[in-house]
Amino acid sequence: MKNALPNLLCLLAAGSLVPAAGHAQESARDQAAKPQVQTARPAAEPKTGRKAKNIILFLADAGGVPVLHGASLLGYGEPRRLGIQQWPYLGLSETSPVDAFVSDSANGMSSIVTGVKTRNGVISQGPDTVRGKQDGVPTKTVLEYAEQRGLLTGVVTTQSIADATPAANYAHSNDRKKWGEIFPQAFAPRFCDGVDVLFGAGRRKIGEQLAAAGTSFEQLGKTHGRPIHTTLAEIGAGEKRPVVVGDDMDARAATLKALDILQQSPKGYLLVVEWDAHTDDPRKGLQNVVDFDKLIAEVQARVDLDDTLLLFTADHSFGLQVDGGRRGEDLLAGYDAWKASPEKGDIVRLKNVLVNRTHTGEEVATLAIGAGAERVRGYFPNTYLFEVMMKAWGWAPDAAPAR
Ligand SMILES: [Zn+2]
Repeated sequence: MKNALPNLLCLLAAGSLVPAAGHAQESARDQAAKPQVQTARPAAEPKTGRKAKNIILFLADAGGVPVLHGASLLGYGEPRRLGIQQWPYLGLSETSPVDAFVSDSANGMSSIVTGVKTRNGVISQGPDTVRGKQDGVPTKTVLEYAEQRGLLTGVVTTQSIADATPAANYAHSNDRKKWGEIFPQAFAPRFCDGVDVLFGAGRRKIGEQLAAAGTSFEQLGKTHGRPIHTTLAEIGAGEKRPVVVGDDMDARAATLKALDILQQSPKGYLLVVEWDAHTDDPRKGLQNVVDFDKLIAEVQARVDLDDTLLLFTADHSFGLQVDGGRRGEDLLAGYDAWKASPEKGDIVRLKNVLVNRTHTGEEVATLAIGAGAERVRGYFPNTYLFEVMMKAWGWAPDAAPAR
């Protein structure tokens, strides 16, 4: 589906191919918010009206407000202790698909990165899609806009790299389950050379679906001159556009590696990092959020907030509630017994925590810091986050395609 004109534009947009020298990494440390500050509101009034060169979108999958609250209690024994909870800008993002109240990851992430709400199960195609049956109009993602304008782009996930949330950035499909069709789209982009850094899990299942589609990791890698590694350690020293699809993925190592590469971009970058935060297993889910938050603090210390926008949000919420507990006591009392029991129904009833193990419809928090962060406030549809990113870069979306 490539055509010559957009690719020529890509080359022009990319400008100098000489990487810029190490980019203002020190000044960021001075500006990084201190997660340890408990009682004070963010001290310095942040500058507003800055344009972003770089954007990093942190996506906690199923990490809604109650999950952030629970993670702070689990990790620190107190509410409001996460690093992201110190960020100056907060809004509530409404996640519903066009035809229902509760979102899955496909609609949730597609809406955020394309600015168009769609249907559950659909990967960055419009609401005219019939899931599994008929393609809708492909909706252009912020990653595609960034590629077209010569930025470097990366997608990192703890989950399968072909799963709905990462896929919504680089692929378009009428069904999130079509991994054999979704993953190869990373190598056949609609704009420029497509996603530059791709680190995720799901090797076995993607491999099976590629085989069913008559191809393989080896074949794809050969055809496109990009080996598809199984671990981060296999990445060669000079490799500028690495792809790693492992059995699992160390999100911290992957994110820091991606950042090292993307920060060489003279024109800026987009990095999307997904970390699973489903609390079907409450300890695992909440601990994931604690770990994600620590990683975000590390990333924050490596960027210059004068030209970088950091966004944290979720694609949809989840049915976790802290409905008991006392300071100094174990938040997850009763967890071990629940974990050991063979019967695990839809409801997890611990002493202090109730989990209805399903996605829920209420708004999720969006937190923001850095260039253009001030646009994140109030209640808004998740599609507004597309606008937040585009406006931070100072870009206007294409006119709607003729129908
Ligand atoms: Zn999700």
